[in-house]
Amino acid sequence: MTAELIKGKDIAALIRQEIKTEVDKLKTKNIIPGLVTILVGADPASESYVRAKQKAAHELGFHSIQENIDASISEADLLALVEKYNNDPTIDGILVQLPLPKHIDESKVLIAINPDKDVDGFHPVNVGRMVTGQPAFLPCTPYAVQQMLIRSGVQTEGAHVVVVGRSNIVGKPVANILIQKAAGANATVTVCHTRTKDMAKHTRDADILIVAAGVINAVTADMVKPGAVVIDVGVNQIGMTESGKRKLVGDVDFGPVSEIASKITPVPGGVGPMTITMLMQNTLEAAQKRK
Ligand code: NAP
Repeated sequence: MTAELIKGKDIAALIRQEIKTEVDKLKTKNIIPGLVTILVGADPASESYVRAKQKAAHELGFHSIQENIDASISEADLLALVEKYNNDPTIDGILVQLPLPKHIDESKVLIAINPDKDVDGFHPVNVGRMVTGQPAFLPCTPYAVQQMLIRSGVQTEGAHVVVVGRSNIVGKPVANILIQKAAGANATVTVCHTRTKDMAKHTRDADILIVAAGVINAVTADMVKPGAVVIDVGVNQIGMTESGKRKLVGDVDFGPVSEIASKITPVPGGVGPMTITMLMQNTLEAAQKRK
């Protein structure tokens, strides 16, 4: 392997240390960042994500509340619960874990969150602020990708960034963040998806390749320019370990691609731990703005 690993775990540890310092400062002003995570139903993957978010919040000294709600909750009752936390002065961030059960309209729930407490960055107000370059809560995974590039010394200015995937939670926002006229951005961005013709033609031109397709081996070595920086957002479960942990791989054919890339993120230990850290960062920022 020749590529340098961009270790999300290590960068996350550094950022969490920075957050802890800021939390201690806030505490001298009697402000404790507050985060509520709302989990509807018992999807095992969602349960494990929410557990990890709660653990991180707890370790950083946040005031954290976990709401475990039965999957049968009505849309109206869930909206009322969100409203309760909109009005709770001890709560700075509200996270509703997605996906929600089919009888609940996700967009209605996301819109119900006060944009100033929308630490997941999915509210249309925050999306609009992000696209227009105003201060906003950035969605956590794209925010994580940007921080990983910045903190591992990757120059985005003038770089050709190719994003594989155009979802609202990863592909579109990461593209929008990196085209901003701003530090840590200023890139030229191409976005690929399932209707892209000859995707390899685009990916082979990437200085920075960000892959968020949710498909194992969506990017293979022949699709990568030698020396490119590769950020693998994908998380695909391929089984369970003997100790009962989920066995995960990304979207990039890691072994062969790491022979030609200059830097690459591993899965696990890459974007995943950073995503939760950026949720904590957003919650801290919300608390810092508390009136
Ligand atoms: P998604 O909503 O399923 O979107 C996938 C996108 O990839 C779609 O835009 C799709 O195109 C495109 N796509 C799929 N296969 C493709 C292919 N072979 N070639 C080109 N484009 C392709 O997924 P998502 O929510 O963005 O998540 C993507 C991956 O990231 C998943 O593995 C997910 O688990 C992971 N993820 C990780 C984190 C983390 O913290 N590490 C956070 C979020 C997501 P169309 O639009 O044309 O269908």
